[in-house]
Amino acid sequence: MRCYDCLQEARSDTTGIGVCSRCGLATCENHARVRQVQVTHQIGMGASYGRIPARRVVCHTCDMAETAH
Ligand SMILES: [Zn+2]
Ligand SMILES: [Zn+2]
Repeated sequence: MRCYDCLQEARSDTTGIGVCSRCGLATCENHARVRQVQVTHQIGMGASYGRIPARRVVCHTCDMAETAH
């Protein structure tokens, strides 16, 4: 599995460590951004947050797109 961002930069010596949850492309340790996300549980009409955060991997490009204002 090759990191897509590394391929764009013509680097092929890196190994993908995960798959971006937004674009679905493989990403490497350098380009991946691992985020903690709260999981909501539906309780009746309301929602509560779980005590343990879940994990989500996004690539560098999607991370920039999500955080850019
Ligand atoms: Zn990379
Ligand atoms: Zn992505």
